[in-house]
Amino acid sequence: MTSKVVVTINSTGRQSASFIRAASAVGWHVRAQVHRNAGFVAAELAALANVTLLEGDLLQADFLASLFDGASLAFINTTHWGDEVAIGRACAQAAKEAGVRHYIYSSMPDHSTCPGKGWKALPMWSGKFAVENYVRQLSIPATFVYTGIYNNNFTSLPYPLFRMELQDDGSFVWQAPFHPNDPQPWLDAEHDVGPAVLQLFKMGPAHWRGQRVTLAFERLTPLQLCARFSRGVGRPVKYVQGPIHIAVSIPTGYREHLQALEDTLGHKRAPYFGPDLEYPDEARRIWEGWRGIEEYAREVFPLEERANGLTWMDSESSSGDNDVDEEDDDGNGDEEDEETDGSVGTAAGAATGPSTPSNVTVPTSGVRTPQTHPEGYADDFYVGSC
Ligand code: NAD
Repeated sequence: MTSKVVVTINSTGRQSASFIRAASAVGWHVRAQVHRNAGFVAAELAALANVTLLEGDLLQADFLASLFDGASLAFINTTHWGDEVAIGRACAQAAKEAGVRHYIYSSMPDHSTCPGKGWKALPMWSGKFAVENYVRQLSIPATFVYTGIYNNNFTSLPYPLFRMELQDDGSFVWQAPFHPNDPQPWLDAEHDVGPAVLQLFKMGPAHWRGQRVTLAFERLTPLQLCARFSRGVGRPVKYVQGPIHIAVSIPTGYREHLQALEDTLGHKRAPYFGPDLEYPDEARRIWEGWRGIEEYAREVFPLEERANGLTWMDSESSSGDNDVDEEDDDGNGDEEDEETDGSVGTAAGAATGPSTPSNVTVPTSGVRTPQTHPEGYADDFYVGSC
């Protein structure tokens, strides 16, 4: 029996690790580049059947050639660490030289390419779009996945943009620049990237060559998101449309990214994926077993919070029952499902209470990562969201 050899990079990251778990489970051989072969995710992946971790530099030609040698498939997710465009180009070139038969690249849009809108490029996304265009020029059999907002961006720690800020009464407030009624795409990256990408490979380039595929399984406005999160976590969750607060040190470039996001997706109300890409029907057809935000909030969020040293889940919320209206839509974005509950606030009323339980020390300076993350113990690492 011949077995497929598939290459991944940044393999301890959420997207690649999700795919590696799925590929190993069906007997594929994975050659998995890691930035650092350390930490519990690297250990977990190394223990999986048919997974080989290779620590190496993605701009080093000999390393890349050995990474791709004999591989027939590749799932490539570049990140903003290092020169993303150079790494993206180098990986594609190495795949072409190795004769890879299906190359799936995790891309993102460049909003500045839409004429007449005044939209800005989001710096941590637009490099991926440049890589996508380079891959297209190489004419390798390629497919481009576009990922929605990860469910597990949410944290009560003081990180910007997806902070669920704990209030005195035990409820949460999420403040972000998105209009409360603008739908956004949601994805449980750890749970759902793997099976969806596996299915793209199984259907193959004859089906997917050249296509953009949105990996987003729910289409929810911030109000709808909060209603579901509230049901899951069993506490009121209020949405506040307001500016992004940056209360911790963040990596170079992330501030500019957040400013562009606030302007383009917030003030100018641009769609997250740009004007042309729809969701979530295609992703739901590809993979039916996805995890939605309500299930995430109920089953995973408290565990991740506890792993980050937080203890709010040990006490009841004193704000009474979850006070959001019932919502009966299925997150597919149909207009008749739109929710109009009152769980929205204004920036002026936001974020007044203490942010964490008094017995928990949460750093507000210096770069820090939630400890659930593979790189959580590295001094210079930050889990960028979105
Ligand atoms: P992750 O954030 O979970 O992990 C980051 C990876 O980068 C790790 O594997 C790490 O080892 C690796 N890395 C490479 N060089 C590094 C260095 N010098 N220092 C530290 N780590 C280094 O990864 P992920 O979530 O699978 O992918 C991140 C990408 O996903 C980003 O480019 C981001 O823009 C994109 N994205 C994220 C969201 C979201 O909602 N979070 C949405 C769309 C796109």
